Amino acid sequence: MPPFGLLIHGGAGVLLRSEVSPALDQACRSALTEALAAGYAQLESGRPALDAVVAAVRVLEDSPLFNAAHGAVLTADGLCELDAAIMDGRTRAAGAVAGVKHIRNPIALAYDVMTRSEHVMLAGEGAERFAERIGYALVDNDYFQTERRRQQLRRAKEIEAGPADPLKAAQAQQERVGFVTVDDHDDGPQGCPAEERKWGTVGCVALDRHGHLAAGTSTGGMTNKKFGRVGDSPIIGAGTYADDATCAVSATGHGEFFIRSVVGHDIAAQLAYAHRPLAAAAATTLAKVGALGGTGGLIALDAQGNFTLPFNTPGMFRGVHLSGGPHAVMLYGDEST
Ligand code: ASP
Repeated sequence: MPPFGLLIHGGAGVLLRSEVSPALDQACRSALTEALAAGYAQLESGRPALDAVVAAVRVLEDSPLFNAAHGAVLTADGLCELDAAIMDGRTRAAGAVAGVKHIRNPIALAYDVMTRSEHVMLAGEGAERFAERIGYALVDNDYFQTERRRQQLRRAKEIEAGPADPLKAAQAQQERVGFVTVDDHDDGPQGCPAEERKWGTVGCVALDRHGHLAAGTSTGGMTNKKFGRVGDSPIIGAGTYADDATCAVSATGHGEFFIRSVVGHDIAAQLAYAHRPLAAAAATTLAKVGALGGTGGLIALDAQGNFTLPFNTPGMFRGVHLSGGPHAVMLYGDEST
């Protein structure tokens, strides 16, 4: 029986067991488990890898715990601006949206850009006009916003406006993306800056029963982002990439560094041209990101069912379910399948 299955992530960052309350730990594991199950059910019933990616990512987009759709981080203007991409490893068809503000599930629109338009990437109002034309009901931006993200934005602005202090500047850079913070929960310690050094983007890579790969990623980007900033997630070949001949990749981290390292394609190129094993190729690429000063992680899977989930941060929200293989969700750096 050829293997099938999927990997997911919900962001990487300074995620330490000592800082996460049991309640939050449990909530994150439940959301990841639900996403894995939604994707795996598609694959088990013979559906394409693309369907598994959409199903898993939708669950994480709908959860307020992650920096994607509902619960996404806020721009400097106090709005959620969402990016997403999907790619079909069978055909290398791809679809992406950037800077959308009224699409409940950006991963679904990325899929529709791929399958129902002649384009690969649509941005902003144009993407939303396309969505309306094919029957989407636009949602109010309030739907995505949460109080926790408003607090994060306030803090980011305070740090930005503060005196030039190298320590604070470094902290500000780290705090610009958000994941779950322990101070959301009454039982957690308050105000630890490390809590917010987390990249909360979500993503999935899947291999279906027919041997085809797909990848998808969805994000709110970075807190306090300005000027229409777009990260790596919707950039095909950077944060999202899939090709049956090599691998499927979804990344999370400081997007600028992942774009400059062309992460997804860099891993695939090592497989295609140098016939390197997947895990070694991913480690090499992540080391290149690190050498530039970037932090984050990725999930990658090939058509033989080989997989890897590396990160250069203390933790990464991640999960894997392969037929006849591992089935686990993990948060911290010391957990393995
Ligand atoms: N990579 C995303 C971005 O830079 C952020 C994240 O992974 O959380 O937009």
